[in-house]
Amino acid sequence: MKMERILPFAKSLIKKAVQPGDVVVDATLGNGHDALFLAELVGESGKVYGFDVQAEAIETSKERLSQHGVLQRVTLFHEGHEELSNRVPTTCHGKITGAIFNLGYLPGSDKTIVTRSDTTIAAIKQLLSIMAPEGIIVLVIYHGHEEGAVERDSLLQHCQQLDQKIAHVLQYQFINQQNNPPFIVAIEKR
Ligand code: SAM
Repeated sequence: MKMERILPFAKSLIKKAVQPGDVVVDATLGNGHDALFLAELVGESGKVYGFDVQAEAIETSKERLSQHGVLQRVTLFHEGHEELSNRVPTTCHGKITGAIFNLGYLPGSDKTIVTRSDTTIAAIKQLLSIMAPEGIIVLVIYHGHEEGAVERDSLLQHCQQLDQKIAHVLQYQFINQQNNPPFIVAIEKR
């Protein structure tokens, strides 16, 4: 297939916005795959702030980042991403160039612990106020589970009404695939 699949496209979008030395956010650490990608992208002089509500996710991410020798570039918060603007140091406000939300539940873990639209939207609002112009937020939306469908609807409603003077909003989705595959909503701050 020549068209980019969902996860590679999410990374392509982030790569467009993020340079070595930048400050970025992994809003849902999970198993730490995105945090590792971000840590490698920002390099030694960059910084990643990561959030997850599950201790297990923090531990797994810490281990992965450590194995790859990039743990010192990442600050891990065992807290929800709705605490973002309180936790990312004010010295970094205005400097964040990229953020990833891989929504839903942690694969192989408790499927009742899922991201929810109210906290996801709270974090998006905070990011839009503390990101650098042309910073990109990538939401990978998993809507195959019950709460995922609710979150999808609220997020689409919220993102569709974002003022176009404040942000460009993109939806990237394969529309003829079975079983509710994930899709992307990306927000570029103007
Ligand atoms: N990015 C991850 C990776 O690379 O492995 C996958 C993330 S997983 C699909 C979603 C994660 O979001 C879960 O680990 C879950 O605990 C976490 N989560 C749920 N609510 C959250 C919140 N309010 N703030 C931060 N993380 C949250």
